[in-house]
Amino acid sequence: MSPVIGVLAIQGDVREHARCLEQLDVDVRLVKTAEQLKGIAGLVIPGGESTTMSILAVKNNLFGPLRELRTQIPMYGSCAGLIMLADSISDGRADQETIGGLNITAKRNAFGRQVDSFEIDLHIPAIGEPDYHAVFIRAPLVEAASSAVEVLAAIPADKSLTGTDQVVAVRQDNLMATSFHPEITSDLRIHKYFVDMVRSA
Ligand code: GLN
Repeated sequence: MSPVIGVLAIQGDVREHARCLEQLDVDVRLVKTAEQLKGIAGLVIPGGESTTMSILAVKNNLFGPLRELRTQIPMYGSCAGLIMLADSISDGRADQETIGGLNITAKRNAFGRQVDSFEIDLHIPAIGEPDYHAVFIRAPLVEAASSAVEVLAAIPADKSLTGTDQVVAVRQDNLMATSFHPEITSDLRIHKYFVDMVRSA
């Protein structure tokens, strides 16, 4: 039986994630209410604008149910979704809330104005060869992470603006997140990795 995977559909590039998941033989449910969280086997939190997502999640009373659920089913956040899964944010709005669960600090808009958007090929052992073409749009960076967090991908020091490794994809137990947007490319390996997490949970 195909698992039902939800896409949080209050803001952001919901359709793009749904389209990727549909190609991987899962049933997709767009989730706007707490009621619609019931029965899903995994949840994707899309890219978009985390401050808006936070406001709308408060308004729709979603934070309580989402925080409870993140201990029970796999969740994957891309870009703004990474921020939503972070335990702490730097450069967030003062009242910005997150679902949390990933022991990381996510720095919003971390790549500066001049590199608002960029693309780079990344080596990601968890999804295999070849290198993965990652697209970043006003992306957050994993500024700090506890030892419980597995780094799935980093921009290597010799290619980063800071001259240090920049962590851009992480996993901690059932939660994973990427700074980049696999949903706007045709390479399905990141979504497949998540679907495999859901299937084996
Ligand atoms: N800068 C956005 C934020 O802070 C994230 C951008 C994105 O998801 N493409 O939420």
